[in-house]
Amino acid sequence: MALKTILTAPDPRLKKKSKPVASVDAEVRQLMDDMLETMYAAPGIGLAAPQVGELKRVIVLDIDREDVKTGPLFMANPEVIEASDEDATYEEGCLSLPEHYSDVVRPAKVTVRYLDRDGKKQEMACEGLLSTCVQHEIDHLDGILFVDHISALKRNMILRKLLKARKEKERDEAEGKEPSAKKDKDKDKDKDKDKETAPAL
Ligand code: ZN
Repeated sequence: MALKTILTAPDPRLKKKSKPVASVDAEVRQLMDDMLETMYAAPGIGLAAPQVGELKRVIVLDIDREDVKTGPLFMANPEVIEASDEDATYEEGCLSLPEHYSDVVRPAKVTVRYLDRDGKKQEMACEGLLSTCVQHEIDHLDGILFVDHISALKRNMILRKLLKARKEKERDEAEGKEPSAKKDKDKDKDKDKDKETAPAL
């Protein structure tokens, strides 16, 4: 297994539509295993292949909360085949939009159809955080980020901040300095202590 680099927004690859896999072969299984390892290391509870630069319809999840424990889930070509009329709001985060969170409204329950790690067709009824997570990851396969569900004002603010943070990091690296963002990051962490339950997907 190998750790992959997680792309952060803005990156054009995160806005592309991913292609279905023809079957779950050794190569796809390898990708799934690498993605799971990368997700655990981040740490996150969900990851989609385009987040590691692979434009394939593959996602991995592992939700370990008091109320939901899924264990590792591998899904190739996942699709929502049923969604509830009832909505739910969750505060979402994303490994590709580090340290930014926002409330997102989605259908409360969905049924998803997919191929598992053995290439077997499966269907799963999802609710709560699992439902949010599955929809968030499938969005990634269509080039949609959680910020595309919120107001343009808030979206642009988050994307501007990410771009600024990246430029500062690149400048510091070029000058051989310790990352200056580190101080601010620790400060933000204290401020956002209550928010730490928001999942990174
Ligand atoms: Zn995400």
